[in-house]
Amino acid sequence: MIQITMPLNFLGTVYREIRQSLVDMGEMFDLLEQEPDVEDKKDADVLKVKGASVRLEAVDFGYDSKRPILKGVTLDVPAGQTVAVVGPSGSGKSTIGRLLFRFYDVQSGAVLIDGQDVRDVTQDSLHAMIGVVPQDTVLFNDTVGYNIGYGRDGATQAEIEEAARAAQIHDFIVSLPEGYDTPVGERGLKLSGGEKQRVGIARTLLKNPPILLLDEATSALDTQTERDIQGALAKAAEGRTVITIAHRLSTIADADRIVVLEEGRVVEEGNHAELLARQGRYAGLWQRQAREQDEVAA
Ligand code: ADP
Ligand code: MG
Repeated sequence: MIQITMPLNFLGTVYREIRQSLVDMGEMFDLLEQEPDVEDKKDADVLKVKGASVRLEAVDFGYDSKRPILKGVTLDVPAGQTVAVVGPSGSGKSTIGRLLFRFYDVQSGAVLIDGQDVRDVTQDSLHAMIGVVPQDTVLFNDTVGYNIGYGRDGATQAEIEEAARAAQIHDFIVSLPEGYDTPVGERGLKLSGGEKQRVGIARTLLKNPPILLLDEATSALDTQTERDIQGALAKAAEGRTVITIAHRLSTIADADRIVVLEEGRVVEEGNHAELLARQGRYAGLWQRQAREQDEVAA
């Protein structure tokens, strides 16, 4: 009995942690072969994606019905554009990402991709269309090449290298003693935060999803790491629909649209210049972060 329940409990815990932190979620489902709480409809279609527009339509959601988390949230991400979601910790930003993956169903309203309700399509086809750049990339105890190639079954070495180039980590990898065959992870070469992130970006680029979800770490990366990955992220965003869940406003100033969330409601939206000019919530957050930056620099 114990032998059976222990691993199951362990997998359950791992699964919940992964779901919570948005770490490589789509892939981890396959890995653990765990069913999420929601199930496919009997006659679920395959998600058909053209431009990959994303829309949340008057979404009400709570993890339990007594405590609403998102309240009438409408969010439009036109195909190929980047929308950033900002707001205080606990305002519901990461929850939006979890609903996009349909880890939970909305209580009312809908989540639509190219007009298709995520409840009407298979979760496999849904997860295949969304790439996550996780806040903290999990590395396997294997070669750096394997860690990138894991993004897509059957990827060739040439494809792995192309993804690594786009993620601006190729030059670093070839400088290693064994190149792409260099072992990394706990028992191999320890990569810096920025290097790990770029391996994660390369992995996601190899999967080549039309939709990209970026959920930034709460704890600010150091400035150097941030610089290291900005170029790779910009490259990854090209030609894709991107939702960025941002804690550091400096990284999202050039997003097509910025949505400010507060206690589960959209309180402001516009581009960076518009929102600064409005001198409201966003402008306040921006000024506060600028002050903090100055204090760090001083
Ligand atoms: P943000 O990303 O803006 O910091 P989240 O979307 O992660 O906020 O969380 C919004 C609220 O939902 C928080 O109050 C958080 O405690 C709560 N919450 C998040 N995940 C769960 C969960 N699995 N079960 C219950 N409450 C949760
Ligand atoms: Mg969050």
